[in-house]
Amino acid sequence: MDDLTNFGGTAEERDIRNHFHAYTNARRHMDVGPMIIEEGSGIHVTDNSGRRYIEGMAGLWSVGVGFQERRLIEAATRQMEKLPFYHNFGHKSHGPAIDFAERLIDIAPVPMSKVFFTNSGSEANDTVLKMVWYRSNALGQPDKKKVIARIRGYHGVTIASASLTGLPYNHRSFDLPLDRVLHIGSPHYWREGRPGETEEEFATRCAEELETLILREGPETIAAFWAEPVMGAGGVIVPPTGYFDKIQAVLAKYDILFVADEVICGFGRTGEMFGSTTYGIRPDVMVLSKQITSSYVPFSAIMMNDRFFGPIAEESDRIGTFGHGFTAGGHPVGAAVALENLAIIEERDLVANAREVGAHFRARLEGLKSSPLVGEVRGVGLIAAIELVEDKATKSVATPGRLGTMMNAALLRNGLISRSMTDAAAFCPPLIITRAQADEMFEIVAKSLAELEAEEG
Ligand code: PLP
Repeated sequence: MDDLTNFGGTAEERDIRNHFHAYTNARRHMDVGPMIIEEGSGIHVTDNSGRRYIEGMAGLWSVGVGFQERRLIEAATRQMEKLPFYHNFGHKSHGPAIDFAERLIDIAPVPMSKVFFTNSGSEANDTVLKMVWYRSNALGQPDKKKVIARIRGYHGVTIASASLTGLPYNHRSFDLPLDRVLHIGSPHYWREGRPGETEEEFATRCAEELETLILREGPETIAAFWAEPVMGAGGVIVPPTGYFDKIQAVLAKYDILFVADEVICGFGRTGEMFGSTTYGIRPDVMVLSKQITSSYVPFSAIMMNDRFFGPIAEESDRIGTFGHGFTAGGHPVGAAVALENLAIIEERDLVANAREVGAHFRARLEGLKSSPLVGEVRGVGLIAAIELVEDKATKSVATPGRLGTMMNAALLRNGLISRSMTDAAAFCPPLIITRAQADEMFEIVAKSLAELEAEEG
């Protein structure tokens, strides 16, 4: 490393030399180097050797309308030319933020009151936690500051949002989670359900676990509960039947807010505009990002009801200002792209496409259950995963992550970018994917699985 000069060489060498990658083994990167993507079009991306792949994860669960969508490019360009930047501090505003806030309130799955703009999912969750604390102070409940999230939930990586996240590698060596953030178990019936327990009974047990934790901590100390309608990065965990009804009954009993993290589910992924609709969630707060602009521009939003906003507004009046906001929050280019992105989703009925093509793709994946390596196929709408196991009876693997890594490599070799989460291979293609393209994607999955079976003997 020391003998490398700082400039020149191949793109791979320069990347290794200068670029510290997110979610990457930093030491190992020096040996394996980067995969460099140069171009995207529709559901495909092309690397710097000219090889084309199906982007089976829509980037990071996010490029809903696909790559190189002219309308988004033109919307961004128009806005750049007119007003490339303005902010919303100190009563300032601009057209795209006004229009998009109104559109969000209009399509909200439950009555909502206000939209606050941020730049990423992490930042939005971080902001919501600050708002939760601010609100409890406003209500004269200074002890009501703890929040509950779930193991395997993913809410981001800032100090607050990583605390909400329930995955070990987001806490380990970072001195997290913060002690006001508590976790209950993941609602993964296939993995966590007891022998003989029905899905509904398992859901009841999850709600009982929540109630037990609330009573142990003291209901007057718990302010909010955080959940993704479908857990994404934790392994595409679809909630068991009745889960959110039972959870919401407990929250209502103890006056606890529901924060729905729709960063992946929002804008059609689950076959409805929002995951909250798919699962009958009535959130007080919704966190939106990723598909909000199809990730063409960093952008996120927090949508909240009056019950949440009211006390916060009062407190800001007492203090004189709401002392929080980001330079680029509600960025005009982001808001303009978000408006156009939503128009495309609606005009092309990509929500219905997610429902229909997703159902077709998942039905085909179900056929893979006969493989000795496939423990579970799960998903909803256009998000799915297959969980690989060495022993189907015990649902176990000797070395967690080994099969997932091998499957990921096979998929890539065969032209499909996926993501393995331990031993689950996830699929979350752009919402524009056609039935024929979904079939093509499935053929690659089936071929890769057959290769993996052969390797495993
Ligand atoms: N919430 C959910 C459900 C996510 O999936 C993610 C990112 O994957 C985040 C929050 C964090 O978003 P960001 O990476 O934009 O900070």
